[in-house]
Amino acid sequence: MATLTMTIDGKAVKGSGSTGVVNPATGQIFAEVPDCTKAELDLAMDAAKRAFPAWSRDFDARRKVLNDIAGILMQPPEGLARTLTMEQGKPLDKAAQEVMLTAMWCGYTASLDIPSEVLLDNEAGRIEVRRKPLGVVAAITPWNYPLMLAMWKIAPALLAGNTVVLKPSPFTPMSTLMLGEILRDIVPPGVLNTVSGGDGLGAMMTSHPVPRKISFTGSVETGKKVAAAAAPDLKRVTLELGGNDPAIVLADANLKDVAPKIFWGAFENSGQICSAIKRVYVPEEMYAPMLDILAEMARGAKVGNGLDAGTQLGPINNQPQFERVTELVEDARKHGARIITGGARVGTEGYFYAPTIVGEISDGVRLVDEEQFGPALPVIPYKNVEDALRRANATHYGLSGSVWSSDANHGAEVAAQLECGSAWVNQHLAIAPNLPFGGAKWSGIGVENGPWGLLSFTEIQVVNVAKN
Ligand code: NAD
Repeated sequence: MATLTMTIDGKAVKGSGSTGVVNPATGQIFAEVPDCTKAELDLAMDAAKRAFPAWSRDFDARRKVLNDIAGILMQPPEGLARTLTMEQGKPLDKAAQEVMLTAMWCGYTASLDIPSEVLLDNEAGRIEVRRKPLGVVAAITPWNYPLMLAMWKIAPALLAGNTVVLKPSPFTPMSTLMLGEILRDIVPPGVLNTVSGGDGLGAMMTSHPVPRKISFTGSVETGKKVAAAAAPDLKRVTLELGGNDPAIVLADANLKDVAPKIFWGAFENSGQICSAIKRVYVPEEMYAPMLDILAEMARGAKVGNGLDAGTQLGPINNQPQFERVTELVEDARKHGARIITGGARVGTEGYFYAPTIVGEISDGVRLVDEEQFGPALPVIPYKNVEDALRRANATHYGLSGSVWSSDANHGAEVAAQLECGSAWVNQHLAIAPNLPFGGAKWSGIGVENGPWGLLSFTEIQVVNVAKN
Protein backbone atom coordinates (compact mmCIF):
# COMPACT_ATOMS: atom_id res chain seq x y z
CA MET A 1 0.00 0.00 0.00
CA ALA A 2 1.30 3.44 -0.93
CA THR A 3 1.50 5.98 1.84
CA LEU A 4 1.08 9.50 0.62
CA THR A 5 0.98 12.43 2.98
CA MET A 6 -0.87 15.70 3.18
CA THR A 7 1.18 18.88 2.94
CA ILE A 8 0.51 21.31 5.77
CA ASP A 9 2.80 24.26 6.44
CA GLY A 10 5.39 22.71 4.12
CA LYS A 11 5.53 19.51 6.13
CA ALA A 12 4.37 15.96 5.52
CA VAL A 13 1.31 15.10 7.61
CA LYS A 14 0.23 11.46 7.76
CA GLY A 15 -3.00 12.34 9.48
CA SER A 16 -4.58 10.54 12.37
CA GLY A 17 -7.10 8.67 10.22
CA SER A 18 -7.01 7.09 6.79
CA THR A 19 -9.30 6.01 4.00
CA GLY A 20 -8.97 3.61 1.05
CA VAL A 21 -8.66 4.52 -2.63
CA VAL A 22 -10.25 2.20 -5.19
CA ASN A 23 -8.69 1.41 -8.55
CA PRO A 24 -11.70 1.65 -10.91
CA ALA A 25 -10.15 -0.94 -13.23
CA THR A 26 -10.31 -3.58 -10.51
CA GLY A 27 -12.89 -2.27 -8.05
CA GLN A 28 -10.35 -2.98 -5.28
CA ILE A 29 -8.76 -0.67 -2.73
CA PHE A 30 -5.11 -0.29 -3.67
CA ALA A 31 -3.91 2.52 -1.41
CA GLU A 32 -4.70 4.38 1.79
CA VAL A 33 -4.61 8.14 2.13
CA PRO A 34 -5.05 10.42 5.15
CA ASP A 35 -8.59 11.36 6.12
CA CYS A 36 -8.06 14.93 7.30
CA THR A 37 -9.65 15.81 10.62
CA LYS A 38 -11.09 19.17 11.66
CA ALA A 39 -7.99 19.82 13.80
CA GLU A 40 -5.67 19.05 10.86
CA LEU A 41 -7.73 21.29 8.57
CA ASP A 42 -7.41 24.07 11.15
CA LEU A 43 -3.63 23.65 11.03
CA ALA A 44 -3.68 23.93 7.22
CA MET A 45 -5.89 27.03 7.30
CA ASP A 46 -3.75 28.60 9.99
CA ALA A 47 -0.56 27.87 8.01
CA ALA A 48 -2.09 29.43 4.88
CA LYS A 49 -3.16 32.48 6.86
CA ARG A 50 0.30 32.97 8.38
CA ALA A 51 2.00 32.53 5.01
CA PHE A 52 -0.20 35.10 3.28
CA PRO A 53 1.43 38.44 4.29
CA ALA A 54 4.92 37.52 3.08
CA TRP A 55 3.69 35.69 -0.02
CA SER A 56 1.42 38.53 -1.11
CA ARG A 57 4.27 41.06 -1.04
CA ASP A 58 6.53 40.03 -3.92
CA PHE A 59 5.02 39.48 -7.37
CA ASP A 60 8.31 38.58 -9.07
CA ALA A 61 9.06 35.92 -6.46
CA ARG A 62 5.63 34.42 -7.04
CA ARG A 63 6.12 34.37 -10.78
CA LYS A 64 9.43 32.58 -10.29
CA VAL A 65 7.83 29.93 -8.08
CA LEU A 66 5.15 29.30 -10.71
CA ASN A 67 7.80 28.96 -13.41
CA ASP A 68 9.68 26.52 -11.17
CA ILE A 69 6.49 24.48 -10.66
CA ALA A 70 5.90 24.38 -14.43
CA GLY A 71 9.52 23.32 -14.95
CA ILE A 72 9.28 20.44 -12.46
CA LEU A 73 6.02 19.21 -13.94
CA MET A 74 7.46 19.31 -17.45
CA GLN A 75 9.77 16.54 -16.25
CA PRO A 76 7.38 14.83 -13.90
CA PRO A 77 8.58 12.27 -11.41
CA GLU A 78 8.11 8.62 -12.26
CA GLY A 79 4.82 7.42 -11.08
CA LEU A 80 2.71 10.58 -11.19
CA ALA A 81 0.89 9.68 -14.42
CA ARG A 82 0.71 6.04 -13.39
CA THR A 83 -0.85 6.96 -10.06
CA LEU A 84 -3.36 9.15 -11.89
CA THR A 85 -4.32 6.23 -14.13
CA MET A 86 -4.65 3.85 -11.19
CA GLU A 87 -6.95 6.13 -9.20
CA GLN A 88 -8.84 7.77 -12.07
CA GLY A 89 -8.91 5.05 -14.73
CA LYS A 90 -7.84 7.04 -17.79
CA PRO A 91 -5.33 5.54 -20.25
CA LEU A 92 -1.71 6.07 -19.23
CA ASP A 93 -0.91 8.25 -22.26
CA LYS A 94 -3.86 10.48 -21.39
CA ALA A 95 -2.69 10.67 -17.79
CA ALA A 96 0.77 11.74 -19.00
CA GLN A 97 -0.94 14.29 -21.23
CA GLU A 98 -2.88 15.64 -18.23
CA VAL A 99 0.41 16.09 -16.34
CA MET A 100 1.83 17.99 -19.34
CA LEU A 101 -1.27 20.17 -19.58
CA THR A 102 -0.99 20.88 -15.87
CA ALA A 103 2.58 22.10 -16.42
CA MET A 104 1.57 24.11 -19.47
CA TRP A 105 -1.32 25.79 -17.66
CA CYS A 106 1.02 26.78 -14.85
CA GLY A 107 3.65 28.11 -17.26
CA TYR A 108 1.08 30.13 -19.16
CA THR A 109 -0.36 31.63 -15.97
CA ALA A 110 3.15 32.57 -14.84
CA SER A 111 3.42 34.76 -17.95
CA LEU A 112 0.44 36.92 -16.98
CA ASP A 113 0.60 40.32 -15.31
CA ILE A 114 -1.74 41.99 -12.88
CA PRO A 115 -1.56 45.59 -14.00
CA SER A 116 -2.73 48.57 -11.98
CA GLU A 117 -4.60 51.24 -13.88
CA VAL A 118 -3.83 54.89 -13.26
CA LEU A 119 -6.99 56.82 -14.07
CA LEU A 120 -5.69 60.24 -13.08
CA ASP A 121 -2.29 61.60 -12.19
CA ASN A 122 -1.86 65.40 -12.08
CA GLU A 123 -1.20 68.19 -9.61
CA ALA A 124 -4.71 67.82 -8.16
CA GLY A 125 -4.48 64.17 -7.40
CA ARG A 126 -3.81 60.58 -8.36
CA ILE A 127 -6.31 57.79 -8.82
CA GLU A 128 -5.11 54.25 -9.19
CA VAL A 129 -7.19 51.09 -9.52
CA ARG A 130 -5.23 48.24 -8.01
CA ARG A 131 -5.82 44.52 -7.69
CA LYS A 132 -5.17 42.97 -4.30
CA PRO A 133 -5.15 39.30 -3.34
CA LEU A 134 -8.03 38.07 -1.24
CA GLY A 135 -6.23 35.96 1.36
CA VAL A 136 -6.63 32.23 1.79
CA VAL A 137 -8.36 30.32 -1.02
CA ALA A 138 -10.18 27.03 -0.39
CA ALA A 139 -9.84 25.00 -3.59
CA ILE A 140 -12.01 21.92 -4.11
CA THR A 141 -11.77 19.64 -7.15
CA PRO A 142 -13.63 16.68 -8.75
CA TRP A 143 -12.32 13.31 -9.92
CA ASN A 144 -12.22 13.59 -13.71
CA TYR A 145 -9.07 15.74 -14.20
CA PRO A 146 -7.68 16.03 -10.67
CA LEU A 147 -4.31 17.54 -11.56
CA MET A 148 -5.26 19.88 -14.36
CA LEU A 149 -8.33 21.27 -12.62
CA ALA A 150 -6.29 21.78 -9.44
CA MET A 151 -3.76 23.81 -11.44
CA TRP A 152 -6.56 25.98 -12.89
CA LYS A 153 -6.98 27.13 -9.30
CA ILE A 154 -3.50 26.92 -7.79
CA ALA A 155 -1.64 28.89 -10.46
CA PRO A 156 -3.86 31.99 -10.67
CA ALA A 157 -4.56 31.99 -6.92
CA LEU A 158 -0.85 31.93 -6.09
CA LEU A 159 0.24 34.38 -8.81
CA ALA A 160 -2.34 36.88 -7.53
CA GLY A 161 -0.77 36.60 -4.07
CA ASN A 162 -3.22 34.33 -2.27
CA THR A 163 -2.35 31.18 -0.35
CA VAL A 164 -4.23 27.92 -0.89
CA VAL A 165 -5.71 24.95 0.91
CA LEU A 166 -6.52 22.34 -1.76
CA LYS A 167 -8.78 19.32 -1.40
CA PRO A 168 -9.13 16.71 -4.17
CA SER A 169 -12.07 14.36 -4.62
CA PRO A 170 -12.05 11.35 -2.27
CA PHE A 171 -12.09 9.20 -5.44
CA THR A 172 -8.82 10.67 -6.77
CA PRO A 173 -6.78 12.08 -3.88
CA MET A 174 -3.42 10.51 -4.68
CA SER A 175 -2.14 12.54 -7.61
CA THR A 176 -2.98 15.75 -5.75
CA LEU A 177 -1.18 14.58 -2.60
CA MET A 178 1.79 13.65 -4.80
CA LEU A 179 1.69 17.12 -6.32
CA GLY A 180 1.85 18.60 -2.83
CA GLU A 181 4.85 16.39 -2.02
CA ILE A 182 6.62 17.28 -5.28
CA LEU A 183 6.15 21.01 -4.70
CA ARG A 184 7.09 21.00 -0.99
CA ASP A 185 10.62 22.19 -1.65
CA ILE A 186 9.61 24.80 -4.22
CA VAL A 187 6.66 26.57 -2.64
CA PRO A 188 7.28 28.32 0.70
CA PRO A 189 5.70 26.62 3.75
CA GLY A 190 2.00 27.31 4.17
CA VAL A 191 1.50 28.77 0.70
CA LEU A 192 0.08 25.58 -0.82
CA ASN A 193 -1.47 23.05 1.53
CA THR A 194 -3.03 19.79 0.35
CA VAL A 195 -5.55 17.91 2.48
CA SER A 196 -7.45 14.74 1.63
CA GLY A 197 -10.85 13.61 2.81
CA GLY A 198 -14.48 13.11 1.90
CA ASP A 199 -17.36 15.43 1.13
CA GLY A 200 -17.56 16.39 4.82
CA LEU A 201 -14.07 17.85 4.62
CA GLY A 202 -15.22 19.98 1.68
CA ALA A 203 -18.12 21.25 3.77
CA MET A 204 -15.73 22.03 6.66
CA MET A 205 -13.59 24.07 4.27
CA THR A 206 -16.46 26.10 2.85
CA SER A 207 -17.78 26.99 6.29
CA HIS A 208 -14.33 27.62 7.76
CA PRO A 209 -13.78 31.20 8.94
CA VAL A 210 -10.32 31.59 7.37
CA PRO A 211 -10.77 31.36 3.56
CA ARG A 212 -11.86 34.51 1.78
CA LYS A 213 -12.57 32.70 -1.47
CA ILE A 214 -13.83 29.28 -2.50
CA SER A 215 -12.82 28.02 -5.91
CA PHE A 216 -14.95 24.97 -6.58
CA THR A 217 -15.26 22.53 -9.48
CA GLY A 218 -17.89 19.81 -9.24
CA SER A 219 -21.56 19.08 -9.65
CA VAL A 220 -24.42 21.59 -9.69
CA GLU A 221 -25.89 19.95 -6.61
CA THR A 222 -22.73 20.46 -4.56
CA GLY A 223 -22.13 23.87 -6.13
CA LYS A 224 -25.39 25.11 -4.65
CA LYS A 225 -24.33 23.85 -1.20
CA VAL A 226 -21.00 25.64 -1.61
CA ALA A 227 -22.76 28.88 -2.54
CA ALA A 228 -25.03 28.55 0.50
CA ALA A 229 -22.06 27.85 2.79
CA ALA A 230 -20.20 30.87 1.43
CA ALA A 231 -23.10 33.27 1.90
CA PRO A 232 -23.08 33.89 5.69
CA ASP A 233 -19.42 34.95 5.53
CA LEU A 234 -19.73 36.58 2.09
CA LYS A 235 -16.82 34.52 0.83
CA ARG A 236 -16.09 35.04 -2.87
CA VAL A 237 -16.92 32.03 -5.02
CA THR A 238 -16.03 30.70 -8.40
CA LEU A 239 -18.18 27.73 -9.29
CA GLU A 240 -17.35 25.50 -12.26
CA LEU A 241 -20.25 23.08 -12.40
CA GLY A 242 -21.81 20.45 -14.58
CA GLY A 243 -23.05 20.64 -18.14
CA ASN A 244 -25.49 18.95 -20.50
CA ASP A 245 -23.76 20.08 -23.63
CA PRO A 246 -25.62 19.83 -26.93
CA ALA A 247 -24.01 19.31 -30.31
CA ILE A 248 -26.21 20.45 -33.21
CA VAL A 249 -25.38 19.00 -36.61
CA LEU A 250 -26.62 21.24 -39.43
CA ALA A 251 -28.01 19.79 -42.66
CA ASP A 252 -24.99 20.91 -44.70
CA ALA A 253 -22.47 19.09 -42.48
CA ASN A 254 -20.34 16.33 -43.94
CA LEU A 255 -21.20 13.41 -41.68
CA LYS A 256 -18.05 11.42 -42.41
CA ASP A 257 -15.94 14.39 -41.26
CA VAL A 258 -17.94 15.46 -38.26
CA ALA A 259 -19.09 12.14 -36.78
CA PRO A 260 -15.64 11.03 -35.53
CA LYS A 261 -15.07 14.45 -33.96
CA ILE A 262 -18.47 14.29 -32.32
CA PHE A 263 -17.73 10.78 -31.08
CA TRP A 264 -14.53 11.87 -29.35
CA GLY A 265 -16.15 15.11 -28.15
CA ALA A 266 -18.56 12.85 -26.28
CA PHE A 267 -16.40 9.88 -25.27
CA GLU A 268 -13.03 11.41 -24.39
CA ASN A 269 -12.16 10.43 -20.81
CA SER A 270 -15.06 7.94 -21.08
CA GLY A 271 -17.48 10.85 -21.26
CA GLN A 272 -16.40 12.16 -17.86
CA ILE A 273 -15.80 15.76 -18.87
CA CYS A 274 -17.99 18.62 -17.71
CA SER A 275 -18.11 20.05 -21.23
CA ALA A 276 -18.20 16.78 -23.19
CA ILE A 277 -21.00 16.41 -25.72
CA LYS A 278 -23.89 14.98 -23.72
CA ARG A 279 -26.58 14.94 -26.48
CA VAL A 280 -26.49 15.24 -30.26
CA TYR A 281 -29.22 16.81 -32.40
CA VAL A 282 -29.22 15.56 -36.00
CA PRO A 283 -31.48 16.51 -38.97
CA GLU A 284 -34.04 13.76 -39.58
CA GLU A 285 -32.69 12.97 -43.05
CA MET A 286 -29.17 12.38 -41.65
CA TYR A 287 -30.27 10.50 -38.57
CA ALA A 288 -29.83 6.87 -39.68
CA PRO A 289 -26.35 7.32 -41.23
CA MET A 290 -25.20 9.32 -38.19
CA LEU A 291 -26.29 6.52 -35.84
CA ASP A 292 -24.45 4.00 -38.03
CA ILE A 293 -21.15 5.88 -37.95
CA LEU A 294 -21.29 6.63 -34.22
CA ALA A 295 -22.22 3.02 -33.42
CA GLU A 296 -19.37 1.71 -35.54
CA MET A 297 -16.93 3.97 -33.72
CA ALA A 298 -18.31 2.91 -30.34
CA ARG A 299 -17.92 -0.78 -31.23
CA GLY A 300 -14.36 -0.15 -32.40
CA ALA A 301 -13.17 1.82 -29.35
CA LYS A 302 -10.83 -0.20 -27.17
CA VAL A 303 -12.12 -0.31 -23.59
CA GLY A 304 -9.73 -1.55 -20.94
CA ASN A 305 -7.43 -0.98 -18.03
CA GLY A 306 -5.69 2.35 -18.53
CA LEU A 307 -2.35 0.68 -17.82
CA ASP A 308 -2.74 -1.65 -20.84
CA ALA A 309 -1.18 -0.44 -24.07
CA GLY A 310 -3.73 0.56 -26.71
CA THR A 311 -6.58 1.30 -24.29
CA GLN A 312 -8.67 4.19 -25.58
CA LEU A 313 -11.41 4.26 -22.95
CA GLY A 314 -10.80 3.41 -19.32
CA PRO A 315 -13.45 2.51 -16.74
CA ILE A 316 -15.97 4.86 -15.22
CA ASN A 317 -14.21 6.34 -12.21
CA ASN A 318 -16.34 5.09 -9.35
CA GLN A 319 -19.19 2.85 -8.37
CA PRO A 320 -21.88 5.53 -7.75
CA GLN A 321 -21.10 7.04 -11.16
CA PHE A 322 -21.15 3.59 -12.79
CA GLU A 323 -24.55 2.95 -11.24
CA ARG A 324 -25.82 6.33 -12.38
CA VAL A 325 -24.84 5.77 -16.01
CA THR A 326 -26.34 2.27 -15.91
CA GLU A 327 -29.55 3.63 -14.42
CA LEU A 328 -29.90 6.40 -17.03
CA VAL A 329 -29.42 3.96 -19.92
CA GLU A 330 -31.91 1.50 -18.40
CA ASP A 331 -34.39 4.33 -17.90
CA ALA A 332 -34.00 5.29 -21.57
CA ARG A 333 -34.55 1.67 -22.59
CA LYS A 334 -37.72 1.56 -20.49
CA HIS A 335 -38.98 4.70 -22.20
CA GLY A 336 -38.72 3.11 -25.63
CA ALA A 337 -35.26 4.30 -26.70
CA ARG A 338 -33.17 1.97 -28.86
CA ILE A 339 -29.75 0.99 -27.57
CA ILE A 340 -27.89 0.92 -30.88
CA THR A 341 -24.74 -0.44 -29.28
CA GLY A 342 -23.42 -0.89 -25.75
CA GLY A 343 -25.79 -0.56 -22.83
CA ALA A 344 -24.01 -3.08 -20.62
CA ARG A 345 -21.07 -3.49 -18.31
CA VAL A 346 -17.88 -4.92 -19.75
CA GLY A 347 -16.18 -7.75 -17.87
CA THR A 348 -16.85 -8.76 -14.30
CA GLU A 349 -14.52 -6.57 -12.28
CA GLY A 350 -14.02 -2.82 -12.15
CA TYR A 351 -16.41 -0.22 -13.53
CA PHE A 352 -16.12 -0.79 -17.28
CA TYR A 353 -19.13 0.21 -19.34
CA ALA A 354 -19.41 -0.32 -23.09
CA PRO A 355 -19.48 2.90 -25.12
CA THR A 356 -23.20 3.32 -25.71
CA ILE A 357 -25.12 5.00 -28.51
CA VAL A 358 -28.81 5.55 -27.83
CA GLY A 359 -31.27 6.36 -30.62
CA GLU A 360 -35.02 6.94 -30.94
CA ILE A 361 -34.93 9.08 -27.84
CA SER A 362 -36.04 12.62 -27.16
CA ASP A 363 -36.21 15.37 -24.59
CA GLY A 364 -38.18 14.38 -21.51
CA VAL A 365 -36.09 11.23 -20.96
CA ARG A 366 -33.50 11.49 -18.20
CA LEU A 367 -30.55 10.50 -20.39
CA VAL A 368 -31.27 13.59 -22.51
CA ASP A 369 -32.37 15.98 -19.77
CA GLU A 370 -29.72 15.20 -17.14
CA GLU A 371 -25.94 15.19 -17.13
CA GLN A 372 -24.89 11.56 -17.61
CA PHE A 373 -21.12 12.21 -17.22
CA GLY A 374 -20.25 8.85 -18.71
CA PRO A 375 -19.92 6.81 -21.90
CA ALA A 376 -23.55 6.90 -23.10
CA LEU A 377 -24.65 9.29 -25.82
CA PRO A 378 -28.26 10.03 -26.82
CA VAL A 379 -28.76 11.01 -30.48
CA ILE A 380 -31.92 12.97 -31.20
CA PRO A 381 -33.51 13.74 -34.60
CA TYR A 382 -34.79 17.25 -35.35
CA LYS A 383 -36.93 18.88 -38.04
CA ASN A 384 -35.57 22.43 -38.24
CA VAL A 385 -32.73 24.40 -36.68
CA GLU A 386 -35.01 26.65 -34.60
CA ASP A 387 -36.48 23.53 -33.03
CA ALA A 388 -33.01 22.09 -32.33
CA LEU A 389 -31.84 25.36 -30.76
CA ARG A 390 -34.94 25.63 -28.60
CA ARG A 391 -34.41 22.10 -27.30
CA ALA A 392 -30.68 22.61 -26.84
CA ASN A 393 -31.38 25.69 -24.70
CA ALA A 394 -34.31 24.22 -22.75
CA THR A 395 -32.16 23.32 -19.76
CA HIS A 396 -30.78 24.79 -16.56
CA TYR A 397 -27.30 23.89 -17.79
CA GLY A 398 -25.21 26.24 -19.90
CA LEU A 399 -21.60 25.15 -19.93
CA SER A 400 -20.80 24.68 -23.62
CA GLY A 401 -22.21 23.51 -26.92
CA SER A 402 -21.21 23.04 -30.52
CA VAL A 403 -22.61 23.49 -34.01
CA TRP A 404 -21.37 21.47 -37.00
CA SER A 405 -21.64 22.84 -40.53
CA SER A 406 -19.77 23.06 -43.84
CA ASP A 407 -20.38 26.79 -43.65
CA ALA A 408 -18.36 28.01 -40.66
CA ASN A 409 -19.95 31.47 -40.72
CA HIS A 410 -23.45 30.09 -40.67
CA GLY A 411 -22.33 27.68 -37.94
CA ALA A 412 -21.09 30.63 -35.90
CA GLU A 413 -24.45 32.43 -36.26
CA VAL A 414 -26.27 29.39 -34.93
CA ALA A 415 -23.68 28.77 -32.19
CA ALA A 416 -24.07 32.35 -30.93
CA GLN A 417 -27.68 31.49 -30.10
CA LEU A 418 -26.67 28.74 -27.70
CA GLU A 419 -27.11 29.78 -24.06
CA CYS A 420 -23.72 28.66 -22.79
CA GLY A 421 -20.24 29.80 -21.80
CA SER A 422 -18.30 28.22 -24.69
CA ALA A 423 -19.97 27.95 -28.11
CA TRP A 424 -17.85 25.97 -30.54
CA VAL A 425 -18.14 25.53 -34.29
CA ASN A 426 -16.87 22.36 -35.99
CA GLN A 427 -15.02 21.41 -32.82
CA HIS A 428 -15.77 20.57 -29.21
CA LEU A 429 -13.66 20.71 -26.05
CA ALA A 430 -11.56 23.55 -27.49
CA ILE A 431 -10.32 24.61 -24.05
CA ALA A 432 -7.07 26.56 -23.68
CA PRO A 433 -5.22 28.31 -20.85
CA ASN A 434 -5.69 31.76 -22.40
CA LEU A 435 -9.46 31.43 -22.89
CA PRO A 436 -12.01 32.11 -20.17
CA PHE A 437 -13.95 28.96 -19.31
CA GLY A 438 -17.15 29.00 -17.32
CA GLY A 439 -20.82 28.25 -17.35
CA ALA A 440 -24.03 30.16 -17.95
CA LYS A 441 -27.14 29.46 -15.86
CA TRP A 442 -26.66 26.59 -13.37
CA SER A 443 -23.34 25.58 -14.93
CA GLY A 444 -21.44 28.04 -12.84
CA ILE A 445 -20.54 31.45 -11.51
CA GLY A 446 -17.46 33.22 -12.83
CA VAL A 447 -14.76 31.85 -15.10
CA GLU A 448 -11.37 30.23 -14.86
CA ASN A 449 -8.30 30.72 -17.06
CA GLY A 450 -6.76 33.62 -18.92
CA PRO A 451 -6.53 37.08 -17.38
CA TRP A 452 -10.24 36.84 -16.50
CA GLY A 453 -9.68 33.80 -14.31
CA LEU A 454 -6.62 35.38 -12.73
CA LEU A 455 -8.44 38.57 -11.78
CA SER A 456 -11.16 36.54 -10.07
CA PHE A 457 -8.55 35.81 -7.38
CA THR A 458 -8.20 39.54 -6.68
CA GLU A 459 -10.23 42.35 -5.22
CA ILE A 460 -10.26 45.89 -6.57
CA GLN A 461 -8.87 48.70 -4.48
CA VAL A 462 -9.12 52.31 -5.58
CA VAL A 463 -6.31 54.44 -4.19
CA ASN A 464 -7.58 57.97 -4.59
CA VAL A 465 -5.16 60.70 -3.50
CA ALA A 466 -6.03 64.38 -3.19
CA LYS A 467 -2.81 66.39 -3.55
CA ASN A 468 -4.06 69.71 -2.28
P1 NAD B 1 -19.05 16.55 -6.61
O1 NAD B 1 -19.81 17.82 -6.63
O2 NAD B 1 -19.70 15.34 -6.05
O3 NAD B 1 -17.69 16.70 -5.84
C1 NAD B 1 -16.73 17.67 -6.17
C2 NAD B 1 -15.87 17.97 -4.96
O4 NAD B 1 -16.68 18.60 -3.97
C3 NAD B 1 -15.25 16.76 -4.29
O5 NAD B 1 -13.95 17.08 -3.87
C4 NAD B 1 -16.17 16.52 -3.10
O6 NAD B 1 -15.56 15.83 -2.03
C5 NAD B 1 -16.50 17.94 -2.72
N1 NAD B 1 -17.75 18.11 -1.95
C6 NAD B 1 -18.81 17.27 -1.88
N2 NAD B 1 -19.76 17.78 -1.07
C7 NAD B 1 -19.31 18.97 -0.65
C8 NAD B 1 -19.84 20.00 0.16
N3 NAD B 1 -21.06 19.89 0.72
N4 NAD B 1 -19.11 21.12 0.36
C9 NAD B 1 -17.89 21.26 -0.21
N5 NAD B 1 -17.33 20.32 -0.98
C10 NAD B 1 -18.02 19.19 -1.21
O7 NAD B 1 -18.62 16.31 -8.13
P2 NAD B 1 -17.83 15.07 -8.74
O8 NAD B 1 -18.77 13.91 -8.83
O9 NAD B 1 -16.54 14.91 -8.04
O10 NAD B 1 -17.49 15.61 -10.21
C11 NAD B 1 -18.35 15.49 -11.28
C12 NAD B 1 -19.07 16.80 -11.53
O11 NAD B 1 -18.11 17.85 -11.70
C13 NAD B 1 -19.87 16.78 -12.81
O12 NAD B 1 -21.11 17.40 -12.59
C14 NAD B 1 -19.02 17.61 -13.76
O13 NAD B 1 -19.74 18.20 -14.81
C15 NAD B 1 -18.44 18.63 -12.85
N6 NAD B 1 -17.22 19.24 -13.43
C16 NAD B 1 -17.26 20.54 -13.82
C17 NAD B 1 -16.15 21.12 -14.43
C18 NAD B 1 -16.14 22.56 -14.90
O14 NAD B 1 -15.06 23.11 -15.10
N7 NAD B 1 -17.28 23.21 -15.07
C19 NAD B 1 -15.00 20.36 -14.62
C20 NAD B 1 -15.00 19.02 -14.21
C21 NAD B 1 -16.12 18.47 -13.60
